[in-house]
Amino acid sequence: MGIIEKMRLDGKKAFVTGGARGIGKSIAYALAEAGADVAIVDIDLAESEKTAGQIARDTGRKCIAVSADVTDKEQVDRMIETILKEFGRIDAAFCNAGICINAPAEDMTFEQWKKVIDINLTGVFLTAQAAGKVMIKQGGGSIINTASMSAHIVNVPQPQCAYNASKAGVIQLTKSLAVEWAMKGVRVNCISPGYIGTDLTLNSPTLKPLIEKWNEMSPLHRLGKPEELQAIAVYLAGDASSFTTGSDFVVDGAFTCI
Ligand code: NDP
Repeated sequence: MGIIEKMRLDGKKAFVTGGARGIGKSIAYALAEAGADVAIVDIDLAESEKTAGQIARDTGRKCIAVSADVTDKEQVDRMIETILKEFGRIDAAFCNAGICINAPAEDMTFEQWKKVIDINLTGVFLTAQAAGKVMIKQGGGSIINTASMSAHIVNVPQPQCAYNASKAGVIQLTKSLAVEWAMKGVRVNCISPGYIGTDLTLNSPTLKPLIEKWNEMSPLHRLGKPEELQAIAVYLAGDASSFTTGSDFVVDGAFTCI
């Protein structure tokens, strides 16, 4: 099979958490364009339904919307059951839902800390664990977690210690699962984006004013676009990446190089 064929995802079944908007939506779109049926999982069902409808119309693939809060184990388990009922199997699982809260470490409330860790780290574990069980049973699959360049550097000027710690945790969780599940046919990788223009950055009252500053600091002097993460997502979802597991892919326009 040639490399272009291996990059295709025809017949594969995938889901993306935080898939209603931003990076997750862009990844879901790319998976469907490459031939996969995709479940859009999000806490916001109305927005997931809109996204699933749009992707199905544009790509001709089956796209379903599933509501789940990734911090709630029962909801995550129910979400996996729904996807299995609709699709019969899960070949690629994108654990992507995440939030950022900015607060100086000395003032960060316990609730703020817990919320970030619950969604960004525990949510990834619960989702990967539930998908991993299915993949082990079916004899293979690919899990892709969204980490961040914040796992590698400390962003400035905004204080975001919980976010940075949660994302460093995602990378080590990714490596741990990759090693545990290597011989069970389940590959686990993560993507670490730099600053990307999404609701999380463009519509955040605390982060939006900092964009000019980040652009000054960045070798490419601009934010990334969600679609600039699509190719790595399609590669990691399918058979082209069969020897790739336990890896973290930094896609940041060289931000972390300086
Ligand atoms: P967005 O805020 O645009 O999208 C995130 C989506 O996740 C939203 O639809 C949100 O729903 C959903 N979500 C939030 N909490 C939960 C939850 N508990 N359960 C299920 N879904 C939830 O963010 P991005 O697309 O920018 O970010 C996606 C991922 O990429 C995150 O993990 C983020 O940390 C990471 N990332 C983003 C970067 C950036 O610069 N944008 C850089 C590096 C990493 P709702 O809006 O309704 O809350």
